[in-house]
Amino acid sequence: MPINEEMVVSYVSALRKVILKENGGETGRLRLNRLGLNINKEGDKMFRIVLGDITKETVDAIVNAANTSLLGGGGVDGAIHRAAGPELLAECRTIHGCKTGQAKITKGYRLPAKYVIHTPGPIWNGGTRDEERLLRNCYENCLRLAAENDCQSVAFPSISTGVYRFPLNRAAEIAIRTIEEYLSTHAEIEQVSMICFDGTTLSAYQNALSEWEANHV
Ligand code: ADP
Repeated sequence: MPINEEMVVSYVSALRKVILKENGGETGRLRLNRLGLNINKEGDKMFRIVLGDITKETVDAIVNAANTSLLGGGGVDGAIHRAAGPELLAECRTIHGCKTGQAKITKGYRLPAKYVIHTPGPIWNGGTRDEERLLRNCYENCLRLAAENDCQSVAFPSISTGVYRFPLNRAAEIAIRTIEEYLSTHAEIEQVSMICFDGTTLSAYQNALSEWEANHV
């Protein structure tokens, strides 16, 4: 039988799970890297940073950079509600909001994604209101909720760096660190994507990933 890309990806993914399970978290990850299966490198299926529109992503869950009311807003939130249809807002009305840094899950309705995980990011206030910890909480809580709902693929937008004005480079560094740390200690989620809506955002996340890899691989 000819070997195709899908077969290689599923083999690497299965191998990764075994190595992570047998060696535990970081050790397993370092062994993977030594084996040449660096799951962060470009082209690999584990962690991708791409330019795109999150509403088009065919993944188990997309993350919505929501506001605490969960009743829709501008930016990525507005785009997700428009693409999902009015049923999404109807379900959001039943879950009574969400605190900053926490996460709640709904169905994806007309989106290609099965679920939407809503997380209100922190509004930047000069760093005086625990914004960095709250942003980290967003990524962590979304990944945890995705895993609890058996999601194997999750796509994030750049939380808080739009109208909430969190400094982009700092937000990218926090996002990459939190996602990498989560993936190195949990095997359930197979693919995380960062969907960047513009070139500046894409570069910031690519740079943050390069920096992280330079210090950890
Ligand atoms: P926040 O209120 O958390 O700052 P915004 O929606 O204002 O959220 O912006 C967060 C990021 O999402 C910004 O980088 C913005 O350009 C981006 N964005 C807007 N629409 C989309 C989309 N359809 N897909 C992916 N990212 C998007």
